[in-house]
Amino acid sequence: METTPNAFSGYDYLIVGAGFAGAVLAERLANVGRRVLIVDKRPHIGGNAYDRYDDAGILIHPYGPHIFHTNSAAVFDYLSQFTQWRPYQHRVLASVDGQLLPMPINLDTVNSLYGLSLNASELEAYFASVAEPVEQVRTSEDVVVSKVGRDLYNKFFKGYTRKQWALDPSELDASVTARVPTRANRDSRYFTDSYQAMPLHGYTRMFENMLAHPNISVMLNTDYRSIQEFLPWRHMIYTGPVDAFFDFKYGKLPYRSLRFEHMTLPQEQALPTGTVNHPNDYAYTRVSEFKHITGQQHPQTSVVYEYPQAEGDPYYPVPRPENAELAARYAADAETEPNVTFVGRLATYRYYNMDQVVAQALKVFRDLEPEAGEQGGQHSTAVARPTLAEV
Ligand SMILES: Cc1cc2nc3c(=O)[nH]c(=O)nc-3n(C[C@H](O)[C@H](O)[C@H](O)COP(=O)(O)OP(=O)(O)OC[C@H]3O[C@@H](n4cnc5c(N)ncnc54)[C@H](O)[C@@H]3O)c2cc1C
Repeated sequence: METTPNAFSGYDYLIVGAGFAGAVLAERLANVGRRVLIVDKRPHIGGNAYDRYDDAGILIHPYGPHIFHTNSAAVFDYLSQFTQWRPYQHRVLASVDGQLLPMPINLDTVNSLYGLSLNASELEAYFASVAEPVEQVRTSEDVVVSKVGRDLYNKFFKGYTRKQWALDPSELDASVTARVPTRANRDSRYFTDSYQAMPLHGYTRMFENMLAHPNISVMLNTDYRSIQEFLPWRHMIYTGPVDAFFDFKYGKLPYRSLRFEHMTLPQEQALPTGTVNHPNDYAYTRVSEFKHITGQQHPQTSVVYEYPQAEGDPYYPVPRPENAELAARYAADAETEPNVTFVGRLATYRYYNMDQVVAQALKVFRDLEPEAGEQGGQHSTAVARPTLAEV
């Protein structure tokens, strides 16, 4: 399994991008003796999950709030080699008609909004009475109006989706709003996954632990194009945008971007929950307060406002059929690249959460190195591994 010393004077793997996709693969491959160079054009590791302390000393997520949640024991167990966890259940309120109401819509949302006192089964009956029949659920609008009717759709979804995507929900794939369920009970958690926790000392520390292996070299502030011809490597793992890899030869894949406005406030707490959505007012979609998410104690607090925009870093693939077709053309070309494997959110033009990217990267590792065994073993410099009971 071990590479013979000096048998190859370069890197076994050149990994483009030090986000979840790149870091998981770097760690796994290094752990089975491969020599890995991981490059990122940004000045830091962690990709969009990167976190850092701001000037006030508050841990923030520069690329917007990242909440870890998964139903995969394998993914959680894998990451637990590199971090301890802080249990955290994210909660979101939506500012609607002058009230802050639980999101996803639940029993309390409807009762408070309309001044009712329904119970769970009465709410089911209410939803059924206001739901609009839709023959074939195709769009984001169809998903919502067919479940909870037009008024809740207008108040909670329509404006938010238009701001977020600059498209009406009737023009967007059903998958966008299908991610936001509605509930007849009083569960106010944003996610219901079996594992919901934040890395105890932050994502960046977790990534540092993953990449702390003698077989891994990290180069930051480096576009792979500036080094790929000078440093010998056998196989590339590419986690950047797939259209950029192919010089946009079929055209640009549309992405939605965000402008983040970070602010430190001279008070201990600014919001009642980790995130408040603004579906109908202001140019931003939501505001989040990091201390809820990280659990940090501090006399001040830092928040971030998210302003959707067309230009800027590629964040969200836009789920429309013609974009899926364009992505499929690039994916077909990607298949024919013998020495390159495309992994992650941007390289596969998919709206993946962090845990899905970790799962995808672990699978790619098994495909690339089938003889390495199911998990490729424990990380050789792993931090003390917490039991699941600690979560
Ligand atoms: C605002 C926002 C909030 C999110 N919140 C959550 C959340 O709460 N929970 C959740 O599970 N997921 C969340 N996500 C999704 C999460 O960010 C992604 O699943 C994850 O970051 C994807 O990892 P990745 O490695 O595929 O891509 P990335 O993290 O984007 O990493 C790709 C890296 O490749 C680098 N790169 C690109 N091109 C080049 C090049 N030419 N040369 C060198 N380097 C290059 C980039 O600089 C980047 O660092 C959120 C995403 C966004 C945008």
